[in-house]
Amino acid sequence: MIELKNISKTYQMGKVEVKALEGVTLTINPGEFVAIMGPSGSGKSTLMHVIGLLDKPDSGEYQLCGKSMQNLSDEQAALLRNRIIGFIFQQFHLLPRMNVLDNTCLPLIYAGKRALKDKAREKINQVGLSDRILHRPNELSGGQQQRAAIARSLVNEPFLILADEPTGNLDTKSREEILSVLKELNQKGKTVIIVTHESEVAAYAKRVISMRDGKIISDKYNGVKPQNKDLSRMKEACDIVTQSHHKVGKAEFSDFLRQAIIAMLAHKGRSFLSILGILIGVAAVIAMLALGTGAKESIEKQLASLGSNLLVVRPGSSQMHGVAIEAGSVTRFTFSDVTAIGRLTDVVRRVSPAVNGRAQLVYGNQNWNTQVEGVGLEYEEMRNSSPAVGRFFSEEELRMREKVAILGTTVARELFGENNPVGEAIKINLLNFRVIGVLPTKGANAFRDQDDNILIPVTTAMFRLLGKEYIDTIYVEVNDAGKMSEAQDTISKLIIKLHRLKKDEEDSFQIRNMSDIRATLEATTKTMSMLLGAIAAISLLVGGIGIMNIMLVSVSERTREIGLRKAIGATNNDIMFQFLVEAVLMSCLGGIIGIILGSGIAILITFFAGWAVRISLSSVILATAFSVIVGVVFGLWPARQAARLNPIEALRYE
Ligand code: ADP
Ligand code: MG
Repeated sequence: MIELKNISKTYQMGKVEVKALEGVTLTINPGEFVAIMGPSGSGKSTLMHVIGLLDKPDSGEYQLCGKSMQNLSDEQAALLRNRIIGFIFQQFHLLPRMNVLDNTCLPLIYAGKRALKDKAREKINQVGLSDRILHRPNELSGGQQQRAAIARSLVNEPFLILADEPTGNLDTKSREEILSVLKELNQKGKTVIIVTHESEVAAYAKRVISMRDGKIISDKYNGVKPQNKDLSRMKEACDIVTQSHHKVGKAEFSDFLRQAIIAMLAHKGRSFLSILGILIGVAAVIAMLALGTGAKESIEKQLASLGSNLLVVRPGSSQMHGVAIEAGSVTRFTFSDVTAIGRLTDVVRRVSPAVNGRAQLVYGNQNWNTQVEGVGLEYEEMRNSSPAVGRFFSEEELRMREKVAILGTTVARELFGENNPVGEAIKINLLNFRVIGVLPTKGANAFRDQDDNILIPVTTAMFRLLGKEYIDTIYVEVNDAGKMSEAQDTISKLIIKLHRLKKDEEDSFQIRNMSDIRATLEATTKTMSMLLGAIAAISLLVGGIGIMNIMLVSVSERTREIGLRKAIGATNNDIMFQFLVEAVLMSCLGGIIGIILGSGIAILITFFAGWAVRISLSSVILATAFSVIVGVVFGLWPARQAARLNPIEALRYE
């Protein structure tokens, strides 16, 4: 069954060549109980690793069930280790965070037989550990741990048991127990190979092979050479060997997920810290996008509430902001300009002058500072400002410069609380005004509270309250949406004519179209979102690097676990997938907590600052997708590092 011909293995240690195996030729038949003896460093473990397909010889021929093992792929070797070989190590190599049952079940996962828990229980029974089934390795004695490891090696009904100094770390009593378990296994038909350097141990075996310096120096049978028993088992094993190229990758996603959750829970604090970056990044994305969307929506609402087809005529050039311009190059508007524009009935439907300033309001012992707008009669219709309570001012009141005021809802609430302000007297900059109405609510946006204002007749504002000689703004409503630019031209020409402006003075006033304003606002919002997006992307990147760091730490910390998993049949892909799932799980968890946190922040902003925010489904999907991608991208490298580990070296890792 096992045939080794002239097997050699040389290790390079710096400049020194260590010949671990030198021309080993050996045949082991089914059902044998073989002890390999020899001093430390004589190549026993190396021989076991070659037989167990954990390591490849440099030269020589190895045949298992008549099939050459020379050109076996990593996956095929993993499959054979899983299905026909059971390893028992001196250090037990149980996974510390799992109980005896879960440890025993491990090889089942890689065989795609995770459901066979009863099989695992049966094997635990067989090694006499059924009363410790839910204990973790650190709650067991050395002998019990080794028995758990034997149960694990048996769970896939292997044909061959390889035990490398299984009693090396045990006291005499435990050693006896372990050896009798192995002897019993052999009596039931399993082929057992045990490495030891204690002759009492060797006495249990039927055949003793002695090694020295990588060579076999003696090979003796204790008593009779055993007959081949249980040939059907052997046939089964050989079938697996011959068909090994068909069956790989049996572990399922749920297995990986479970392992990942166990690993994460094992280091709760560390996992939390490593997802913090993702968490903050995603929370920022969600909150920022909610703010941005909210701002955009309220801008649009505001633009709609401004009224349609609106042109805004103002003194000064549109480039005025931030650039000093010469004195005298600003056109001053008066009522005659308003009247003249109003006469352009071909294009203009309505026109209203406006001035504004800030004022201090007093009612009783309440004070409030707000924005005062002096406007014309037409303003009510043009700007959707018909009072919700009370009335607008009349033509008579406009003409007589009456001291009447219409309050925005914020002002009304600040001065009057829940009471009806209509008919009350208030002081505006020490002048007595009468409240005649309350404006409809327009809502707040990220920039300002649009209900924090009052309207008064433009004449009262200019000549009594603010002391202005000129009009600040002329609002023009155009007849038809299609005539906006025509109206803009006509009004522009009229103003140039009325004010006798020269060519170089033509930018001393500006006419703005709402769509210009919309475009500007949209451009601003877009720049803002891009900036915020960039910040969020950077924090996600940093978060990803955090996860990668932790995963790399985790890989090196769990090197022995990786080695063990490979020894019991995990393929490279299994290992890679396990770590990848762990990284993605962490980043997704960060993403989910981030989404909750970000939404919470957005809601708090609405609640306390009164800004409009809107959490959109698309931003949630975006954030989730991003965290998955971050997990995959930054988990891939550590996962590949883990997958590439050599099982032997990984098992030796301290
Ligand atoms: P044994 O199990 O009989 O004590 P091993 O098979 O472990 O001996 O090792 C045989 C020889 O090969 C020893 O001299 C050891 O130092 C060397 N050796 C084993 N593994 C390595 C390795 N990974 N790198 C270098 N030398 C090694
Ligand atoms: Mg050894």
